[in-house]
Amino acid sequence: MPQNLIEKVFGNGGLIARFHESYEYREGQIKMAEAVAKALSDKRHLIVEAGTGTGKTLAYLIPAIAAAAEGKMRIVVSTGTKNLQEQLMQKDIPFLQKILPKKFSASYMKGRGNYACLYRVQKAEMQPVLDNLDQIDHFREVSKWVHETATGDRGELVDLPENLSFWNRINARSDICIGQKCPDFNACFITRMRGNAEAAEIVVVNHHLFFADLNVRGNQFGKVIPDYGAVIFDEAHLIEDIASDYFGFQVSNFQIDELVRDTDTLPISDAVATRDLTKLAARIIGLAEQFWLRFSQAKTEGRYPLLPDTFAHRTSEGKSRPSALGEAYEALDTALRSLESFLGGYLADNPEAESLLRRTRQAIFDLDFIVHQAERNFVYWLERRGKGIFLRASP
Ligand code: SF4
Repeated sequence: MPQNLIEKVFGNGGLIARFHESYEYREGQIKMAEAVAKALSDKRHLIVEAGTGTGKTLAYLIPAIAAAAEGKMRIVVSTGTKNLQEQLMQKDIPFLQKILPKKFSASYMKGRGNYACLYRVQKAEMQPVLDNLDQIDHFREVSKWVHETATGDRGELVDLPENLSFWNRINARSDICIGQKCPDFNACFITRMRGNAEAAEIVVVNHHLFFADLNVRGNQFGKVIPDYGAVIFDEAHLIEDIASDYFGFQVSNFQIDELVRDTDTLPISDAVATRDLTKLAARIIGLAEQFWLRFSQAKTEGRYPLLPDTFAHRTSEGKSRPSALGEAYEALDTALRSLESFLGGYLADNPEAESLLRRTRQAIFDLDFIVHQAERNFVYWLERRGKGIFLRASP
């Protein structure tokens, strides 16, 4: 973005001053805009620390819009909070769309869990997903709304309670998505959101979505952010914690329960196989319960380190011997591997089997990674929250 253009936009009597009555000329803002413009044109990293009142949002948005137009590339802006995401989409970007001579389009992407999954909602109409009768009216509301909404974003349903348990079973999160084999793929809200983002020069996301997406790039089921030429992180102080969550590993009692419950509803026409699957599902539930019960140190809410001898200890002869917890893990691992081979036999005619197989393999891998603690650059711990037990490993 040439210097004279920066002056034309930010300078005294410039575009912003003419359209924004409380605009003040700020040298810091101009310096930041110049630095951002240079970093984008040189394709270099840039870190900016700017105090409150610098006007940093416009100082990065305007060079980003100019660079996107010049380089015909898409630029992603990632924020740490929903408030800033909304401020960008409802205030700053519409303002710039009004005053900048060059037209540009922007799109807003939330995390996949905010959107309804058309396939799951229809499935839930036939196979109940409700935990209690109080949820019936809410489910009816969602079921009617998915045929009317253009976005599928649950934020439109302002009266829907935040902690509605069935939402997690009918949302569009990547681990339960069956991707292009889905009969609703074209109408899917995620497909539409991705299409809108592909047509935009500026795509506003949050750090959670950005790192979740980065973690699954190359995987057709999870990726939603279209290819981009540059990314700008605002509220970058929040990145460290969020990124380590997405580049770490985690397995929880909820995750195993949900996997088994979904497996049990896998549509299979063979009655004998259905019976075998139900038996296997019951076995996994029992073994998982034994496994989680043995985390006796996690009686109250909090975080606890997973020490190297949690699952096995060395005998006096130097051999590794599993602890009671290690034995419970081995039994669970064996049962999960039986599920893996069972699902492998149904891939050809059942797209849901593929998604379940992916989830089973992920659970086997994550458990193995955390139990064996082979990666020395990770920290391993257990977290207890409410009824949930989470085993985690972070880089
Ligand atoms: S493509 Fe995935 S998220 Fe979209 S409707 Fe189908 S299963 Fe749901």
